[in-house]
Amino acid sequence: MLSIDSARAGDGSGGVPKRFCESKIFGEEKTRQDPPEEDLTLAAGPAQGFFDIKKKVGLARVGTIRTAHGDIETPAFVGAATRATVKALTMKEMNELGSQAILANTYHLILRPGTELIQQAGGLAEFCSWHKPTFTDSGGFQIFSLPNVRITENGVKFKSHIDGANFEITPESSMQAQWAIGADIHMAFDHLAKSESYEDMKEAMERTHRWLDRCVEEHGRLMEALHTNSRNNDDTLRAGDGSGGAPNDFALSKIIGEEKTRQDPPEGYHQYLYAVVQGGKFNDLRAESAEYCAGKNPDGFGIGGVFTADGMDSMLKTVNSILPESKPRHLLGMGQEPIDLFVGAEFGCDTFDCVGPTRMARNGSLYTKDGRINIKNAKYTHDFSPLEPDCNCECCKNYTRAYLHHLFKTDEITAKVLASIHNEYFIVHTVDNIRASLLDDTFADYKKSFLSRYYQ
Ligand SMILES: [Zn+2]
Repeated sequence: MLSIDSARAGDGSGGVPKRFCESKIFGEEKTRQDPPEEDLTLAAGPAQGFFDIKKKVGLARVGTIRTAHGDIETPAFVGAATRATVKALTMKEMNELGSQAILANTYHLILRPGTELIQQAGGLAEFCSWHKPTFTDSGGFQIFSLPNVRITENGVKFKSHIDGANFEITPESSMQAQWAIGADIHMAFDHLAKSESYEDMKEAMERTHRWLDRCVEEHGRLMEALHTNSRNNDDTLRAGDGSGGAPNDFALSKIIGEEKTRQDPPEGYHQYLYAVVQGGKFNDLRAESAEYCAGKNPDGFGIGGVFTADGMDSMLKTVNSILPESKPRHLLGMGQEPIDLFVGAEFGCDTFDCVGPTRMARNGSLYTKDGRINIKNAKYTHDFSPLEPDCNCECCKNYTRAYLHHLFKTDEITAKVLASIHNEYFIVHTVDNIRASLLDDTFADYKKSFLSRYYQ
């Protein structure tokens, strides 16, 4: 499947982004050096019923995130669907392995296929046929990782890694792009620090806060326009056009001036904004950032800029003791190592995403309860046992280690598919088990038994 994707991307028929962004989003010449003076908290206040907590165990919680595309039982691992696909897996396979939600990357989708096309398709969920909740991250992390990025107070200028075209993303355009993509939950545009030094972390955090003000304001404007449009549609419908009770147009298309989209949004559609807490490994910066983000009254929080697990427990304890308990928290980009998921959940994070599990799968590095193994190793040539005897994934129920070894050695596409099914299943279900253990008060035992065996 990867090969097919690559071929399609390179055939020139669909890979060139329309420059919607340049005229509608990226062409904005706003120079807003000073944050506006008005209250930037969301006009409509916190979303009601978005997140319910069933049980608390210290900082850990078991809850439910509710979206128009369905619920997420938390803690939960969210599949990394960077380009609106989880590499090597179909959405049917993701659904069958038990994934509750996916997270796509705004930066990559802006470049290809372009936000306009995704909007015309009816939004991210319709476009990729994932009929469950979706997240987008802002793309900040990827943009700041590019060479020759120019950062100004207004935003970030960079060249496309695909064709060298010039782009600029601002906090406002990131919000507009994420609204057009149409995920249920999106992230404020944040500034990734250029190094892990205190000075760089502080500078990035402070700019992230100034950009958060602008993201919140733009999100509020878009949300108000969406709801106004819905009300206008409802009025039209009440006047007797006979077409039923739902808005007959995707409101976002009107907001950003595009043509009518193919699909109506689901009933109760709402996009939720998460502020992103920065500050690296410095607890004083993390505390300052958590307080600032909490004060903006977003719907939830992303915790960003965590590169290693060192000190993560202390950092999360600081941050999640400050963030309002009633709102969900997403630990951005963490979850390759099972211990990060245990620590994240224990210290109050509700959702996680990471490209690691499927990336490692494609390289033949596979999770087992006894640690990761490299299935390409010669010792698996004649191993006719399942990868994990008690794993219920499609791979382990049907195939042996010897078969997987053979597929990797012969570079078959199926090797990546089966390995990705298993690794994604393993991590999704590890977090599911963490959730179950919190509910039945066995978390400490589960954590100890899992980690002592996995990292023996
Ligand atoms: Zn398995």
